[in-house]
Amino acid sequence: MPAKDLETIVSLAKRRGFVFPAAELYGGFANTYDYGPLGVELKRNIREAWWRSMVRERDDVVGLDAALITHPRVWVASGHVATFHDPLADCKKCRMRWRVDHIAEGQYGEPKRNAAGELLCPNDGGELTEPRMFNLMFKTQVGTIADDENIAYLPPETAQGIFINFENVVASMRRKLPFGIAQSRVSFRNEITPGKFIFRTLEFEQMEMEYFCFPPADRANPEEYLALHREWIDYRLAWYRDTLGIDASRLRIRYHDKEELSHYSAGTADIEYDFPWGWGELEGIAARTDFDLTAHGNESGKPITYFDEDSKQHIVPWVIEPAAGLTRTLAVCMLEAYSEEPDEKGEDRVVLKFKPNIAPIKVAVLPLSKNEALRPAARRVYELIRPVYMTQYDETQSIGRRYRRQDEIGTPLCVTVDFQTVGENGVAGDDAVTVRDRDSQEQIRVPIANLLNVLRDRLPGC
Ligand code: ATP
Repeated sequence: MPAKDLETIVSLAKRRGFVFPAAELYGGFANTYDYGPLGVELKRNIREAWWRSMVRERDDVVGLDAALITHPRVWVASGHVATFHDPLADCKKCRMRWRVDHIAEGQYGEPKRNAAGELLCPNDGGELTEPRMFNLMFKTQVGTIADDENIAYLPPETAQGIFINFENVVASMRRKLPFGIAQSRVSFRNEITPGKFIFRTLEFEQMEMEYFCFPPADRANPEEYLALHREWIDYRLAWYRDTLGIDASRLRIRYHDKEELSHYSAGTADIEYDFPWGWGELEGIAARTDFDLTAHGNESGKPITYFDEDSKQHIVPWVIEPAAGLTRTLAVCMLEAYSEEPDEKGEDRVVLKFKPNIAPIKVAVLPLSKNEALRPAARRVYELIRPVYMTQYDETQSIGRRYRRQDEIGTPLCVTVDFQTVGENGVAGDDAVTVRDRDSQEQIRVPIANLLNVLRDRLPGC
């Protein structure tokens, strides 16, 4: 069972060092979070799993890391300067600021309206100001002179760096269509919507890929292109299910209808998760046609094309874009892994049932007690495992409490060193340890000489 509510995860995330509200020392800062020692590991592992599935295990996708702050005309060409706006309104009574589209969608419960049918403040039913369009991009300035000439933007997505490097990648990597360019890094949006933890933040990480393919023979009827779009939807859905272990019943595909589609799009589907407050987007998979390459060609005055050896023609490739949120996915992995169930003694325990590949700590080495006689062997086991797997050593508190702690942070395996390992009262030790499985709580005895083999079997994909 996943967590029933978000508060459970928010509190566990802070207590156990996954995610902290940012700048609490100064009273907090809306919609920003810091990632603690375990959050940072979890985030790296999810990104690594994505990179493996999108780049390393495929021979048709390469990686990129483009500059965050780039030429401002990039954002003119992409349409972000002109159209990346949300409608905002303030409550005249409580002064809270809202996204009008979110109120209308029912994101704050059934929308309240006055007699004339106008939306009212979800907080206190107050009258709202006329909506104003508000650009979500953060502006900054490059150099020392603060004028319009020196304006730059923090990137609200990662994709544009890929489009403007298309020809560099083709030329330097001798790539033939179809192929993709993948990139994962931070993006910024001036989001005013409060709450929902790391679901919607000012600064968040994305995992995006642009897959370039041949344009269709018939623009109005791009059957093969749409089939490729469906293939990517299936591929990405399978990743959430099989690689991250998200239950299929809490994932769905939602196709955008005509009104929701951008004018250039041949189709967009979102992969959504059933959050405690309802369905929400995890990833958008957009069939963006040749819109972006053409737009950058027009804005720069230098057409971006691909030379097709067979037809001996310059063409503008079409694109499929799977764009995922890394930090939003991290929240889903925590919600999904959360479980409350009885421990060995029938007492309640909290377990994060992460798949081993994403668990922040893979193995905990726990001497049975703080007894000096156990420490050398326990340290030896720790030093054996540490170079291979992210490992924690813990000798404080009772062994039962340490198992509970490791369960709560989702460590798949605990290795216990006891007196049988080192020997006592003149009886020689067996140089073996106990390996305890987080989910089944089963314990097996393993010779230290064979320990790494056993761990390897039980930690697939790590
Ligand atoms: P939403 O409708 O939720 O605002 P979007 O459609 O604007 O999302 P995209 O531009 O398609 O989002 O970005 C791709 C992914 O990036 C989203 O599916 C989401 O996982 C993530 N994402 C977008 N905005 C944010 C944000 N402010 N905070 C965290 N993740 C985000």
